[in-house]
Amino acid sequence: MAAIPDFVSGAMEHWGLVTYRETALLYDRNISSSANQQRVATVIAHELAHMWFGNLVTMKWWNDLWLNEGFASYIEYKGVHHVHPDWQMLDQFLIADLHGVMKLDATLASHPIVQTVENPNQITELFDSITYSKGASVIRMLEDLVGAEKFRLATTNYLNNNIYRNANTNDFLNELEALNFDFDVK
Ligand SMILES: [Zn+2]
Repeated sequence: MAAIPDFVSGAMEHWGLVTYRETALLYDRNISSSANQQRVATVIAHELAHMWFGNLVTMKWWNDLWLNEGFASYIEYKGVHHVHPDWQMLDQFLIADLHGVMKLDATLASHPIVQTVENPNQITELFDSITYSKGASVIRMLEDLVGAEKFRLATTNYLNNNIYRNANTNDFLNELEALNFDFDVK
C-alpha cells in the first residue's frame, strides 16, 4: 500500500499494489481525528474488497460498475466492523450511504444503477454515489431479503464460478436465484 501526493482518486486497487491519496492512508494518532482513523480503515477495507470484487472477478463492461463499487462499498463496512465492532460501522452505513444517496436519488439527476455506456465520458459519470452508495444499499437490501447465510453462499458461488473471468449483473442474480426462493429475486 502506498500513499501518493496529489493522487487523483481516493484510492486504486491494482492487484498487489494499492495506491491512495495521502489523506486516505496516512494516520497519526497525535494529529488525526477518530473520523480520520475510521476513514482510513474503511478505504483500506474497500480497496482490499476489490481484490475479489473487481480483480478476481471483473465486470464484463462499465455498465455493471455497480458490481465492483457497490460490493466494495458494502463490504468495507463489514470488514471494519469485523475488526472494530465498537465503531458501530453497520449503523454508520445508514447515515453515510443509504440516507446520503437518497438526496440525489430523489432528484431528476438520478439514473439507473445499471446504465448504458458508449463513450469514455459516460464511464467517468458513472463513478458517482448512485453506483457506490445506492449500489451498496441494494446489495445490503438483497442480503436482508434472502438472509445472511444464503447471501454469503450465493456471493461465494458467484466469485468461484466466475474466477479469473468477467461477469455481469445477471451472473450475480442468477446465483441467488439458483438457491430456489419462493419469490423472484430479480
Ligand atoms: Zn472502489
